[in-house]
Amino acid sequence: MKYISTRGQSPALSFSEILLGGLAPDGGLYLPESYPQFNDADLSAMREMNYRDLAFTILSRLIDEQDIPSKDLRVIVDKTYRADVYCYTRKGQNAEDITPTLKLENNLYLLSLSNGPTLAFKDMAMQLLGNLFEYVLAKKGETTNILGATSGDTGSAAEYAMRGKKGVSVFMLSPHQKMSRFQAAQMFSLQDKNIFNIAVKGVFDDAQDIVKAVSNDHEFKAANKIGAVNSINWARVAAQVVYYFKGYFAVTQSNSEKVSFAVPSGNFGNVCAGHIARMMGLPIDKLVVATNENDVLDEFFKTGVYRPRGSANTYHTSSPSMDISKASNFERFVFDLVGRDAAKVRELWASVDAGGAFDIKQAGLFDKVAEYGFVSGSSSHKHRMNIIREAEAKYGVVIDTHTADGLKVALEQRDINTPMLVLETALPAKFEDAIVEALGHAPERPAALEGIEALPQRFEVMDADVDAIKAYLVANT
Ligand SMILES: *Cc1c(COP(=O)(O)O)cnc(C)c1O
Repeated sequence: MKYISTRGQSPALSFSEILLGGLAPDGGLYLPESYPQFNDADLSAMREMNYRDLAFTILSRLIDEQDIPSKDLRVIVDKTYRADVYCYTRKGQNAEDITPTLKLENNLYLLSLSNGPTLAFKDMAMQLLGNLFEYVLAKKGETTNILGATSGDTGSAAEYAMRGKKGVSVFMLSPHQKMSRFQAAQMFSLQDKNIFNIAVKGVFDDAQDIVKAVSNDHEFKAANKIGAVNSINWARVAAQVVYYFKGYFAVTQSNSEKVSFAVPSGNFGNVCAGHIARMMGLPIDKLVVATNENDVLDEFFKTGVYRPRGSANTYHTSSPSMDISKASNFERFVFDLVGRDAAKVRELWASVDAGGAFDIKQAGLFDKVAEYGFVSGSSSHKHRMNIIREAEAKYGVVIDTHTADGLKVALEQRDINTPMLVLETALPAKFEDAIVEALGHAPERPAALEGIEALPQRFEVMDADVDAIKAYLVANT
């Protein structure tokens, strides 16, 4: 299996060759040259598998034996998807399921993706990435220094995935005193020697700008082996494909049934994995893209116009991990939509990269979008507060703000005869203030994380100064 770029002007590479990088050299995103197919017999064989066997079965069709031998992949998968890692289950759920479901009512379920160490779905892929990085770096005799900026979820998931891993250091920039106390405590309480938290005096965009400036200094980047683990990383998307299969099997009896998934979306990474699962043969009816007030994706699926917005036009909402106005994985879907015509992708993104927009209707392709099962909707602060209250009153379940956006749009878009799985992308404990606002009481917090705010913290406060941060990196690598 080789990986090709959506822009068509980079050489095809293996899974482990693209593992540590980001964008392809031509500016595109990597995708498999063709999607492996799972037929009816395959699906039947997979139906009874546990999460680890399912993950191994799917990933071994995406990774060549000569690239990562299957006995090694087996070890990596087995040490990643463990009940003691994805342990923060709800009452009545079995941690062995890794991504258990929770029935809300007939044909309506939560698919719990947030039972991992940082209580958000990013742990599903990031934990695998940590083990893959360690393996591939050791094999190549290399090391990497991951540099990132976070407003909360991605940074903590990366740190918990990479802590203690040989050959990897993490330098994570966050806006000083702008994260929730819980999020800051999660990251800053890590005492691992390979984790460096830098609280930048400024807002998230200042931290992000520093990462961009360092990454654009190619000489510095090469000399200091600077890497990234951003949402366009192919291995993250590949890991996410697995839970669509797991969720499908959990709520169906036979492969003739279809199910729909509602996905709280920002960078389009999560729902892109759903699209790929569908392309591999999983019987998916609808993929429901749910956005918050930052509704660039909803606009596209309703009108055919993709018009990313700048960070100055991005709203700060109560589902902050979806506050994204440029969906970095969206190009992967559009590549399939245009029949994998890389020249067409280059043409569409020429206007996007110049700060403009494109209209898929003009290309005569809008009708095709529905053939891929996509529908969409958006949600607002008021909606999510109401939905959180309704879910508690009706189902006795407390959900977080992001999942609330998903449930809100799922209820609008569902066909009541088709099972609908709403992807639970964070646990409510992570966004305590919003839950208190909605319900008047704090959400339950996993017992092991009680009092996390009181643990000793290890972080460096620094000015938003590129040179100072570069000097800090050099001094600590
Ligand atoms: C990252 C994140 C999302 C958005 O996922 P994408 O893959 O960027 O679309 C939604 N909810 C939560 C809680 C997240 O952390």
